[in-house]
Amino acid sequence: MQLYKDQNLRVHNSLTGKKEDFQPINEGHVGMYVCGPTVYSNVHLGNCRTFMSFDMIFRYFKHLGFKVRYVRNITDAGHLENDADDGEDKIAKKAKLEQIEPMEVVQRYTVDFHNTLQQFNLLPPSIEPTATGHIIEQIEIIKEILEKGYAYEANGSVYFDVIKFNKDHEYGKLSGRKLEDMIANTRELTAQDEKRNPQDFALWKKAEPQHIMRWPSPWGDGFPGWHLECTAMSTKYLGETFDIHGGGMDLKFPHHECEIAQAEASTGHSPVKYWLHANMLTLNGKKMSKSTGNNIYPSEIISGNNDILSKAYSPAVVRFFMMQAHYTSILDLSDEALQASEKGYNRLMDAMGSLDTLKTGSKSEFEIAVWKQKCYDAMNDDFNTPILIAHLFDAVKHINLIKEGKENITQEDKTELENTLQAFVYDVLGIESQSMAKDDSNALKGVMELLIQLRNEARANKDFATSDKIRDELTALGIQLKDGKDGTTFSIN
Ligand SMILES: [Zn+2]
Repeated sequence: MQLYKDQNLRVHNSLTGKKEDFQPINEGHVGMYVCGPTVYSNVHLGNCRTFMSFDMIFRYFKHLGFKVRYVRNITDAGHLENDADDGEDKIAKKAKLEQIEPMEVVQRYTVDFHNTLQQFNLLPPSIEPTATGHIIEQIEIIKEILEKGYAYEANGSVYFDVIKFNKDHEYGKLSGRKLEDMIANTRELTAQDEKRNPQDFALWKKAEPQHIMRWPSPWGDGFPGWHLECTAMSTKYLGETFDIHGGGMDLKFPHHECEIAQAEASTGHSPVKYWLHANMLTLNGKKMSKSTGNNIYPSEIISGNNDILSKAYSPAVVRFFMMQAHYTSILDLSDEALQASEKGYNRLMDAMGSLDTLKTGSKSEFEIAVWKQKCYDAMNDDFNTPILIAHLFDAVKHINLIKEGKENITQEDKTELENTLQAFVYDVLGIESQSMAKDDSNALKGVMELLIQLRNEARANKDFATSDKIRDELTALGIQLKDGKDGTTFSIN
């Protein structure tokens, strides 16, 4: 299947600020790199949104028949507290706080990251490389940049010379900043500073004696700067120039700007054809922030265990909610918005679930081919999922009319409608139906039967403390037991 030959995909390129025809470097192939998490804490919901957006993009490329190599890294070293090159290493700081090895921090939060993304039905990337696994590649790039004269060594550290680079290239072209303005707006360097000017950034940092995560290098023991790992890993797995580089909007500057500078300084050409940036998630109209308490974790949405929520929401509903906004727009999360999404999700799933029983006839009023192309047109317009979803609800409307006997559909059209809906909802948007989670509900049934049996045994033994405890704890979880003449049944609120 090579659907992409019939579809004209356009993507918004942050580098040019325009929507452009997507023309891959190698026909039929897409190379995509997305900046992954720094694994020193539980993944934020805002980050989940970014990764979900690129998961949808990955899925659509695959759906169109492209061979996609999707690389998303794990930052397990080198990310300092401040985006400037000072402060502690985020992972080392957490390790000290929890009195464990830095690699234990990395393992703990990598597992959390994978589990959370799996709950939201994200596909694993093709390659998930780590910064610590690519120290040699990073050192090689530093050597090249030094050789080309765009970096300098100072006291065991190596810094990128932004002023020198800007003379031959353009520093700031992705974020639309001018180096002169940046210089005017920053503090003067002090005598202790190793940098030649404040805009310079670290390629390699000397490790102080107490720094645990350290590697030998031509400049002494140290660790790589944060921006360098993405240049090293994207070049290694996707080549010196590749199709798509994605990430959150907040990474545009300095991170992505520095990636461009490093690549251009070492290879002489631009590393990325299309830069895609996903926008942020706000909570009740305000920026999410742990310090102000305006914050929610993915696990809290799924459990309903947060004061801003009236109930728990399934991961599929959360994913549907996220897909209802365009990936470049700010999305505001609130209890009301999630409730509305849940209603929409249920309507969509009900309609899809009723397709099997839909009666067919000799004619169709609903023009499937026209509708289907509208769905593609929406996705071809820079992955416009909210417009796609509006078209999906147009199909829902027709399905309901057919159900009520007010419209007709042929068997052939019904099959086409079903296949198209399933492709867009399950494969492209990655939204699962509740029946796909059937295994879970079977397990729940088994557990409930066991609990009811234990409660009956307790009652038979006149152990009312235990039988009451089982009933009360279940009630607290929102599960009601009902004793009837045919035995005990349960219902979930
Ligand atoms: Zn990156």
